[in-house]
Amino acid sequence: MNQTAVPFVDTHCPYCSLQCGMRLRGLPSGAALPVEVVERPDFPVNRGALCGKGHSAAAVLAPGTRLTTPLVRDAKGGPLREATWDEALDRAAAALAGTGERYGRDAVGVFGGGALTNEKAYLLGKFARVALRTANIDYNGRFCMSSAAAAHRNAFGLDRGLPFPLADVARTGCVILVGSNLADTMPPAVRYIREMQENGGSLVVVDPRRTRTADLADLHLAPAPGTDLALALGLLHLVIADGHVDAAFVASRTSGWEAARAAAMAHWPERVEAITGVPVAGLRRAVELFTAAGSGMILTARGPEQQSKGVDTVGAWINLCLATGRAGRPLSGYGCLTGQGNGQGGREHGQKADQLPGYRSISDPAARAHVAEVWGVDAGDLPGPGVSAYELLDSLGTEGGVRTLLLMGSNPVVSAPNARQVTSRIEALDTLIVCDVVLSETAALADVVLPSAQWAEETGTMTNLEGRVILRRAAVAPAGQARTDLHILHDLASRLGHEKGFPADPEEAFTELRAASAGGQADYSGIDYARIAAEDGVFWPCPAGEDDAPHPGTPRLFLDRFATPDGRARFADVSHRPAGEEPDAEYPLYLTTGRVLAQYQSGAQTRRTPELNRAAPGAFVELHPRLAERLGVVEGEALALTSRRGRATAPARITTGIRPDTVFMPFHWPGESRANSLTNDALDPQSRMPEFKVCAVRVERAVRV
Ligand code: SF4
Repeated sequence: MNQTAVPFVDTHCPYCSLQCGMRLRGLPSGAALPVEVVERPDFPVNRGALCGKGHSAAAVLAPGTRLTTPLVRDAKGGPLREATWDEALDRAAAALAGTGERYGRDAVGVFGGGALTNEKAYLLGKFARVALRTANIDYNGRFCMSSAAAAHRNAFGLDRGLPFPLADVARTGCVILVGSNLADTMPPAVRYIREMQENGGSLVVVDPRRTRTADLADLHLAPAPGTDLALALGLLHLVIADGHVDAAFVASRTSGWEAARAAAMAHWPERVEAITGVPVAGLRRAVELFTAAGSGMILTARGPEQQSKGVDTVGAWINLCLATGRAGRPLSGYGCLTGQGNGQGGREHGQKADQLPGYRSISDPAARAHVAEVWGVDAGDLPGPGVSAYELLDSLGTEGGVRTLLLMGSNPVVSAPNARQVTSRIEALDTLIVCDVVLSETAALADVVLPSAQWAEETGTMTNLEGRVILRRAAVAPAGQARTDLHILHDLASRLGHEKGFPADPEEAFTELRAASAGGQADYSGIDYARIAAEDGVFWPCPAGEDDAPHPGTPRLFLDRFATPDGRARFADVSHRPAGEEPDAEYPLYLTTGRVLAQYQSGAQTRRTPELNRAAPGAFVELHPRLAERLGVVEGEALALTSRRGRATAPARITTGIRPDTVFMPFHWPGESRANSLTNDALDPQSRMPEFKVCAVRVERAVRV
């Protein structure tokens, strides 16, 4: 084949929420990989830049790396064997129907993912509520940004990760980056930070570790894990004391100031220093930098969010924006750096336990009536809200819990908190059905494995961290017998008596999604595939306009009014409280977990990518030299970490870039070095986010047996 004749296809990276633009073209059969990835300079978010994960994304398409044939297990404990699609689908459908008939519909559960396209997320939610009629659907995005989403809604009445385009970061006066290591997690975004600094702006990084992102900062504050709520209140205290409150903004565009003010005044600098370990001088410098310029942004990621008080912690950072008038104005505001590729869109279209498409509440009668009409069902037949992701996983195989689970695009054996317990729950299921592109650690436990097509093999929309709806396009046909997830849902629904309503065609699914979202907060009704292609993405909300006057989309939110009933942003009434588990005599150190540059989430794809695996071949434990000396540990020595929930081992990495009272472990690896064997499943009372970012551990030199 003459390669010059094969056109490149514009598409987007399969990994993080930046959704970098890239180009793909199919390679001749016999080539090592089926597609070639090249940069795409004209996409405005990444302007041609890709990180190593994006550059190497095609590796997971390699023959032998991914699933291409359905697999079934004939008996618990027995091996998986190859099966035909008919056999595998018949088994899956029989288990889903049989469990519902025998134990009740809510004994069937569905667990989705933040990497699924909007069309898949939408149809997975519909499949749960219409074909299975179970309330029990949730997704792994609950573990990602749900605390920020709840805080966003509390404050502004609407949750969109960034209420402004990422490019605005380059022109703001100061960015406070809280618990984000974007230099590792989304490297192309660093250029906006550098441009902001070149324009005279400053960067403050809040992180217990001196990460590569903290190395870029004009000021790095390193609070103890789980104390950044107190840190934010201490900064607000100084804003008030030093006369930096924007009284006109507070009076005209906010509500709830007096309670927030009182809480901040109770967190005086010396008290905050005692709680967080951040010196008063550092607090003062942060306030100077944030208030010196006329504009500023506070961006959070998993650090403040993955806590059992994540909603309150994010609320405290939003309070700082509101008090200084840095919200609802050009080049200012609060934003969440969503993690997963479709962490944003994945939460808008109905795979969350409490939501219907368009960000509608499943408990709202008007919302139920609208969606039921689009779906052609009686609103009274739609289930109510189900339980959150961790609660769903914790119910598996238990009395009264979920007994058959359909899992699409998630790997909770590695990524869930208290993962040892979650794994034993999964093993107790009557039937586990997994749709995935690779035989992940969770898929390896399944009774039925359905091989999914990958990003380069299917078309569909994603919504990036800015709320920009973009289009991924197929470059090659699915390998082997792999099918798209939409095709799989269509086939399962047909076997459950729903011949119609579950289109395998993505554009048809998107057309229905638009109708279901119309009038909701995340209104996509004015967006279609042709428009996305022509405009390099469209920002929601984008209601349907007239043919000659289409709605332009909404790159910037809240400039005139916030989305609350009275148009005012709401201060959060929050105070410091300890983490769910604090160090004590038995478990004397903080553990915090996170990500590394060359791996992504549970590592199911990136651990199968040779180039990435060479760069980051395994877990490690970061610890301070003083702690290493106290423990008698040398660089590279095997360490055993123990918490109340489990044990993990990994080699020591000694660095001054971490607090002496804290150890860090990345969570991408399974088995003995699974960090989530240790993490705490304490949940935020509102978002139901588990406390991945802080728990108590004991660290010892590993005893070799
Ligand atoms: Fe992909 Fe994210 Fe890397 Fe961009 S930054 S190439 S979207 S993993």
